[in-house]
Amino acid sequence: VPQTAAVWRAVFHPVAVIPLCLTACGPLLGAGEAASLTSQRQPVEEIVPVGARPPGSARQDARLGLGPGESRRLLSRVDAQPDYRLVGLGQSRAGEEWRFELDPDAAQRPGGFILVLFDERGGLLSRSINGYLSHVTRRPATSLVLGIARAPNAPAASFELRIERESGLEVPPPQAQLVLLNFAGGRNVQVRDRPAVSFPPFDGALLGGIHARQTELLKGAIRERLEYYFSQYNVIFITSDERPPAEPPCSVIHFGGYDPGALGLADAVDLYNRRADDSAIVYVHSFIQYASLNLSSRELGHMMGDVAAHELGHLLGLFHTLGPFSLMDSARSIETMVTGSALNLAALAPEVFPYGSLDSVLLLEDGVGRRAEGIAGPAPAASKAVPFMELGGLAKWLRPPRGHASAGGWCGLCCEDR
Ligand SMILES: [Zn+2]
Repeated sequence: VPQTAAVWRAVFHPVAVIPLCLTACGPLLGAGEAASLTSQRQPVEEIVPVGARPPGSARQDARLGLGPGESRRLLSRVDAQPDYRLVGLGQSRAGEEWRFELDPDAAQRPGGFILVLFDERGGLLSRSINGYLSHVTRRPATSLVLGIARAPNAPAASFELRIERESGLEVPPPQAQLVLLNFAGGRNVQVRDRPAVSFPPFDGALLGGIHARQTELLKGAIRERLEYYFSQYNVIFITSDERPPAEPPCSVIHFGGYDPGALGLADAVDLYNRRADDSAIVYVHSFIQYASLNLSSRELGHMMGDVAAHELGHLLGLFHTLGPFSLMDSARSIETMVTGSALNLAALAPEVFPYGSLDSVLLLEDGVGRRAEGIAGPAPAASKAVPFMELGGLAKWLRPPRGHASAGGWCGLCCEDR
């Protein structure tokens, strides 16, 4: 292990290491001060905060003035979550690449670190859990902010970090996405790292007697809910009942199978939709547990469509958030899954990062693009997010069955893709 540290130091010819000032009352490092520290080659000084910062606080531990083509090294330490460090990076133009790399000792420390790049409003722009983060800015920012935290349940640890900035890059264009809704059954379908599953064609009879002859209605409700969330973006849905085009590649949402602990699962959070052919699954058989709720077929279809939309959100680059009216909250109640929620601005789930928010509209605009002929205006807001008020027999006591959704949510990605 010491060898890897030596190699790392040799690869990154040491500039002076800049300490982060960590005390609540400590001074922030301005550009000039940082430069003077570099030139004076001050010894590394590590200051550990006495108490944890208030949860969600935007207080920055340091500010760097880092010009294009420059690099810096930081040394600091972070306590177990909910502690985190925030480092202000200053203005950035669109088309600049920001690279952050932990030293190998820190990167290999059990539990690992979470690196997140935020915009000036605390909106997540990029995230990594493998010790290296690279991001090309899509938009100008008055201030970028780097966040560093330990993985959930990991103990306090120190780290060294190298930051590089490069300008003049091309802004990656958004990638339109074709999505196949697979109702035709599957053989050896593998999603993420789960064992492959096979399942018969989608049929209402799989969901209990009252849905037996409602297969088409269920499919229609699923698609209706998906269109509700994504119709303003460059996301085109086709179903296996239509003839799938040969080109271009498409992402697939499978409808079938069973999982004892999840309603749905996606391959990964595909930030900025880099992959055009990833897949997700909605475990249709897992919905049989809600038979006693006597949902209408349309309500049940909307609920399955909501799970499909959440998993598709992952495939288009969205992380988990918190909030009953946020699609990407994986612990929403059944009631909000049936009635629908919104792709809005919401706080990040703590396992993603203990500070900051997810602006789904911005990430989808930059990753997927807004539909050209699209309706002008913002994406559905939480306040008008209940378009499907078919509550009918849906009683207010409706809650997820015990053991489900209480321990972290119904999306299989919850605890795995931190
Ligand atoms: Zn999820």
